[in-house]
Amino acid sequence: MNSRSHRKQAVVIGGSIAGLLAARVVADYFQSVLIIDRDDLSKNGEQRRSVPQGRHAHALLSGGQGAIENLLPGISRQLIDAGEKVTWGRLIFEPPWTFFRTYFVNLGFLDGVEGLAIANMAALYNFLKYAKVRFMSPGR
Ligand SMILES: Cc1cc2nc3c(=O)[nH]c(=O)nc-3n(C[C@H](O)[C@H](O)[C@H](O)COP(=O)(O)OP(=O)(O)OC[C@H]3O[C@@H](n4cnc5c(N)ncnc54)[C@H](O)[C@@H]3O)c2cc1C
Repeated sequence: MNSRSHRKQAVVIGGSIAGLLAARVVADYFQSVLIIDRDDLSKNGEQRRSVPQGRHAHALLSGGQGAIENLLPGISRQLIDAGEKVTWGRLIFEPPWTFFRTYFVNLGFLDGVEGLAIANMAALYNFLKYAKVRFMSPGR
């Protein structure tokens, strides 16, 4: 039941990922949604004082991607288009380079079998990550 007409305004405290998605959900039931955050959210893409984890690389698993896509249809395509390009060269050469860097440059070989396993996993992880992006944007 969508009874948006007589519910005037919802207030969401916090305008990061959870707050923005919560705002999207309640937007179906209120005439307007006010998001309050203690940071200045107008600076698009800049690091924010209240979200220090924003500096770290984040992985979005398929389940989360699907849930966000249900709320915001087309968001995956927008994110892919706004992100880095993955060329065939990068897909082919970057994983072996990751192995080389992890195992030799970063001295992983000193850790024996564990170092070899970590270098292999790092290379495989990079390959899967780039393959997924490449697969989702074949024309780029
Ligand atoms: C090192 C690291 C790596 C991570 N890697 C991953 C990953 O790979 N994949 C993954 O899914 N998750 C990862 N996470 C977890 C993920 O970062 C958090 O789960 C996610 O950022 C939480 O989002 P949130 O919107 O709930 O909170 P936050 O992003 O912390 O946002 C809270 C918001 O509320 C605002 N706020 C706080 N207090 C107030 C107040 N009193 N008044 C007004 N506004 C306020 C803040 O300004 C901020 O905008 C990682 C976390 C860390 C630390």
